[in-house]
This record gives sequence, C-alpha cells and structure tokens, in this order.
Amino acid sequence: MDFNLSERSERFRGEVREFLAEHVTDDLRDRVRETGTIHDWGLHRAMAEKGWIAAAWPEEYGGQGRDDFEMAAFYEEAVIAEAPLDGLLITMIIANTLRHVGTEEQKRELIPQMIGGDAICALGYSEPGSGSDVASVRTRAVRDGDEWVIDGEKVFTTLAHESQYVFLLTRTDTEVAKHKGLTMFLVPMDTPGIETRPIHTLGGERTNSTFYSGVRVDDRWRIGEVNGGWDVMGVALTFERTETGGTESARVLHEFVEWAREATDDQDRPRIEDPSLRETVARIAIRNEVARLMALKATWVAAAGGLPGVEGSMARLFYATRFQESCSEILDQMGPRGALQHGAEGAPVHGRLERAFRHSAVTTIYGGTSEIQRTIIARRGLELPSGR
Ligand SMILES: Cc1cc2nc3c(=O)[nH]c(=O)nc-3n(C[C@H](O)[C@H](O)[C@H](O)COP(=O)(O)OP(=O)(O)OC[C@H]3O[C@@H](n4cnc5c(N)ncnc54)[C@H](O)[C@@H]3O)c2cc1C
Repeated sequence: MDFNLSERSERFRGEVREFLAEHVTDDLRDRVRETGTIHDWGLHRAMAEKGWIAAAWPEEYGGQGRDDFEMAAFYEEAVIAEAPLDGLLITMIIANTLRHVGTEEQKRELIPQMIGGDAICALGYSEPGSGSDVASVRTRAVRDGDEWVIDGEKVFTTLAHESQYVFLLTRTDTEVAKHKGLTMFLVPMDTPGIETRPIHTLGGERTNSTFYSGVRVDDRWRIGEVNGGWDVMGVALTFERTETGGTESARVLHEFVEWAREATDDQDRPRIEDPSLRETVARIAIRNEVARLMALKATWVAAAGGLPGVEGSMARLFYATRFQESCSEILDQMGPRGALQHGAEGAPVHGRLERAFRHSAVTTIYGGTSEIQRTIIARRGLELPSGR
C-alpha cells in the first residue's frame, strides 16, 4: 500500500489551489455562511468550464480521466478553501448512477446538463420517520397510463431550493417486503405540485422539507425498473462521498493554533505556551493524521478496483466522532468566549471555531449516522451476526 500521492496528483492539486484562490473569495465564503447554502452557481459554472464537474470520468464520457488520488487532492483543496461543493457532489452521485442504470435517452438528455454545469440535483430519500431505515419510505407513486402521480413528503432535501431535479425514492407497491416495493424517479423541480420549505440546521447548513401533491411525471423520468428502486439506490450509495479525511479538522486546528498564538491568559502569558493547550493540539493533530490515512486507505481500495464500503465506513466513523470530540476540546480551551457566535462582540476567530463545533455534530448524522456505520463495520467487515 503506497500512501504517497502521485506526482500527477500533486500537479493537479497546484492547479486546483490556484483556481480556488481566485474563485473562492471571502465574499463568497461569507455568503455561504450566512445562507447555509453549500453551493454557488458562479463557482459551479467556472468549474464546469475547467471540465472538473466530472473530472474523474473517462474522456469519451466528457471527463478528464483523473485518477482517485488526483480526486483526493481536489477534494482536500476544496475543503481547505471552504469551496461550497455540495451541488457538485450530489449531482455527480446522480450522474454516475444514470451512467450505470439510466436509459440511453436519459443519458443523452440529462448527463450533458449535469456535467456541463447547467443543472444540479437534490437527493430525495429521507422522510419524517424514514432516515436510517430509508426502505420504509411512504411517498407514493401510482401509475396512471404513461404517467405516475406522486404524493408525499420528504425531509432534509438538501439544495432542493437550487436544484433542477430531485432524485426521488417512492413507494410503488405496499404488498411486498418494504425494500421490494420502491421505485426511483428523477423529477424536474418545476413540475406543478412541488413545494419547498427551508430547514436551518444546528450546524448552519440550510436544507429543506419538500412536499409532493398530485405531482405528475411521465414514465420516462423513472430510473431503473418499477419496484427496482432499492437496487438503484444501492448504485447511488456507492458514489456517495461523505468522507473529508480529516482535512476540515486540520483547517480548524490551524485556526485554533493561530488564535492561541495571539491570545493571552489572565497573567498575560501567550495561551500557546499552556501545556494543557499544547497537549490538546497534539492530540487533535494525531487524530487528523489517522483520519487522513484511513481515508487514503479507502481511496487506495477504490483505485485497486475494489468497493471500499467497510473502509469508507471506518474512515467516516473515526473522522466524524473524533472531529466532534476535537471541536469540543477546542471550545473548552477557549473558555466562555469561545462560545460566542459570529457577529457577537469579541467572538474569537469571527465565531468560526464555534461554528465548526456545531457543524461537527452534523457530520455524525448525514450520509448515515455513526450507529449505522458501526452496523456496517460489524456485519460486513467483521461478519458478526445481526443483533436483532
Ligand atoms: C444537514 C443534513 C443534510 C442531509 N441531507 C440529506 C439529503 O440531501 N437527502 C436525504 O435524503 N437525506 C438527507 N439527510 C438525512 C440523513 O440522511 C438522515 O438524517 C440520517 O440518515 C438519519 O436519519 P434520521 O434523521 O431520520 O434519524 P433516525 O434514523 O431516526 O435515527 C435517530 C437515531 O437512532 C439511531 N438509529 C436508527 N436506526 C438504528 C439502528 N438500526 N441501529 C442503531 N441505531 C439506530 C441513529 O443512529 C440516530 O442516532 C440530511 C441530514 C442532515 C442532518
């Protein structure tokens, strides 16, 4: 196993870093923090012009044939620059899924819009009461000739308010085992009957509730077989990328150390000289390095042609839980002022570390909670029997 990123990936990293320095301005970052919308159309279109939306795809499909390590460098740089890439990441889950299970017509019509930067997508899986147990969704799709009529409610439909399409998991059969009665659709967001309402999360991200009342879609918007939605979702899940490999935590640690160099205690001694603070810094740096290596191991498995399901879950679980711990320790070190939010007088580092603390909790939830990751590791990795 070789953990050194290739020369090629380091060259690409340099190009990405330069591009982000130009396009991800302080104004853009401020706007993202204020709105909680982790997407920016200007940046997205500029990335499309560079050919980076589907950079990992082979050239004959409109990509640049970038390898897994180049893509790892790309995402690391994006996290360091705080580039708002949720739109790109979610859209590529769907474009990849279409490439594998879409009809020729769907590929021809939809993929160019997605990788050309003209359309982004939202994931419509979760519902109130169906998150971890997503196979229990109740949003109904009922066939009516060549059309389907959809009624129901989704929650946490992130970026639905910016998206052209929602990738919607629906129930089409109530008489069979729950995961056998599901069908997937890609529904244009301008179809009559769809309503979007904002949800502002603890971590600062904006997501949405979406409501579907008598939404009529042609059968050509169905992705995969009728009652084959679970399999389509399985394909989509293999393209979900939720792991940041400790890069975000490394950025937070850097900001904390910068603060500690400036701040003084009540006897005017620099906080950076405090042994307990230095111990915290060292502990977090070790966690970040382990998280990075675990993410690289998952990348290596993928590069070798494997499906890094268990390795991905291990990396994700370790990173998210340790990131939450690290942010909590940082806030403890900063004392009561550390809890002041952005905009409050005297908030250290413009409230950025306080915000990271709130955001860290959310990383243990989306894309599968820590408990669900543990279940995957136990069952698939350790082959333990089901506990229930
Ligand atoms: C910021 C944010 C963005 C999101 N974006 C999207 C999106 O774009 N599209 C989308 O469809 N969804 C999205 N989600 C939803 C996310 O996938 C769910 O929140 C997540 O899967 C957990 O589901 P839940 O919230 O219903 O919690 P529940 O499933 O109700 O879980 C509640 C608690 O019970 C535990 N639990 C549940 N089942 C088990 C089990 N079998 N064993 C052990 N413990 C268990 C969980 O770990 C958790 O601690 C987003 C969530 C957040 C917070």
